[in-house]
Amino acid sequence: MKKLKARKDAIVARAGVEKSLRSLTNCEVIEGHARFTAPHTVSVNGKTLISGGSSSTWEAARDSSRPECAIFHQFVHDGRRFRAAAPFDSRGSAVGLEFAQMYRRFGSEVTVIEQAPRLLPHEDEDISAAVLDILAKEDIQVALNAHNVAVKATDQGLNVHNFTGTHLLVAAGRVPNTDDLGLDAAGIATDERGYIHVDEDCATSARGVWALGDCNGRGGFTHTSYNDYEIVAANLLDKDSRRISDRIYCSAVYIDPRWHAPE
Ligand SMILES: Cc1cc2nc3c(=O)[nH]c(=O)nc-3n(C[C@H](O)[C@H](O)[C@H](O)COP(=O)(O)OP(=O)(O)OC[C@H]3O[C@@H](n4cnc5c(N)ncnc54)[C@H](O)[C@@H]3O)c2cc1C
Repeated sequence: MKKLKARKDAIVARAGVEKSLRSLTNCEVIEGHARFTAPHTVSVNGKTLISGGSSSTWEAARDSSRPECAIFHQFVHDGRRFRAAAPFDSRGSAVGLEFAQMYRRFGSEVTVIEQAPRLLPHEDEDISAAVLDILAKEDIQVALNAHNVAVKATDQGLNVHNFTGTHLLVAAGRVPNTDDLGLDAAGIATDERGYIHVDEDCATSARGVWALGDCNGRGGFTHTSYNDYEIVAANLLDKDSRRISDRIYCSAVYIDPRWHAPE
């Protein structure tokens, strides 16, 4: 795991997103938890940032050759909030299966506990069957139709749905982390699950504020988050009316279909 993490850290460091942001003219990077305190006003580390003033509306920004706008960037997190009965998100349990195969190949005994009647319930049924077969060949146990799953600590370890193990990884869907952003103060509406409501251009209900990425609930992937940026940039800078609904949905599950005999 140490080697794996070191490799991951090296790849992340090479990507250098932060370095590249810090090197941009007219872009200031501030570390801290930001919250809206009023429409177009964000507070971070005790500082108040005012974005474009009250005249910084969608139209004003659109007509400016160098619009000053704060693009508020939020995220959704996995696992830290366990929603046992929640519907699966668009990734449809891919993350759990990716980790299941990874840990099995590192030598752990792995059981996947799934509430749906089949794995990857958003995929076609033949895909679910093929994935079940791939995992079974690697001796990964799969329990389907698992409802009302409870976790109990026992002398032998953690007991979950009648399986006992040393560790439990919860990958039961994601919730938007939008509850501590002061959205009410800015008049930014969310839906009943907490996702920021956006229109086809990623604009929120507050004029001059856009929500990109996982927090708007319209994608849930790295490439859809990036495409949100492309949509906003095209609309604001190029007067090109790109829209979320023009996006062609695509996703991949990163499991390895080839079975390797244990060495
Ligand atoms: C385990 C796992 C596996 C995944 N695998 C894939 C995959 O294979 N392919 C894929 O396309 N997608 C994958 N995803 C999803 C992908 O990571 C997200 O869709 C993507 O990172 C969303 O980008 P984002 O910019 O919206 O949010 P993030 O990448 O989460 O970035 C949000 C940023 O905002 C910061 N932030 C949050 N709140 C505040 C605040 N109040 N003030 C200041 N800063 C704040 C955060 O610290 C973070 O830096 C995976 C996600 C997980 C959890």
